[in-house]
Amino acid sequence: MNLILMGLPGAGKGTQAERIVEKYGLPHISTGDMFRQAIKDETGLGLEAKRYMDKGELVPDEVTVGIVNERLAKDDCKEGFLLDGFPRTVAQAESLERILADTGRRIDAVLYIKMDQSKLMARLTGRRICSQCGATYHLVFNPPAKEGVCDKCGGDLHQRPDDKEETVTARLEVNAKQQQPLLDFYSHQGCLQEIDGDRDIEDVFESIETILGSLNV
Ligand SMILES: [Zn+2]
Repeated sequence: MNLILMGLPGAGKGTQAERIVEKYGLPHISTGDMFRQAIKDETGLGLEAKRYMDKGELVPDEVTVGIVNERLAKDDCKEGFLLDGFPRTVAQAESLERILADTGRRIDAVLYIKMDQSKLMARLTGRRICSQCGATYHLVFNPPAKEGVCDKCGGDLHQRPDDKEETVTARLEVNAKQQQPLLDFYSHQGCLQEIDGDRDIEDVFESIETILGSLNV
């Protein structure tokens, strides 16, 4: 099974990726891991990517796609893989298609964990951190007994700048804007599978199992 996992930050992609990898024995291929490995192995493309990253520049598509190509050619991808964080653009998706077609493969399903931005906001802005001991809380999932006060040491709880509403809104919007053309692309190809992410982890995973069970691969 050749799979792509998509979803906005906070939709629970990481948790579901772990479950999929565990149950189906697929390698989890995230862009970050792939870059780190290529750099560590000092492959030609890895070193090229590093040169851009060291300068704080964006790694060009042809280098990224080359690294993906090398990764997907490895033995552990023969029975399938779970791509996470790639492709990010339609151009990359088209390159991926060509890479796979060269070895007689294709994407079997794009699993899109869908969640309303308002729901994601609640998840992503709810984190609070103790200014004294560093303990973390979440207003929805793990609230302190007394608002604004650490259960462990009585310290003040604060919100990281990254978790503030405007920062999170901006991040979600950038991601949503980037994601939409890809969703359209895969929808047009007939392999997009939407999964309602606003449920328990177990229920979301069950939907994924049903989808994967019905794939003709
Ligand atoms: Zn504390």
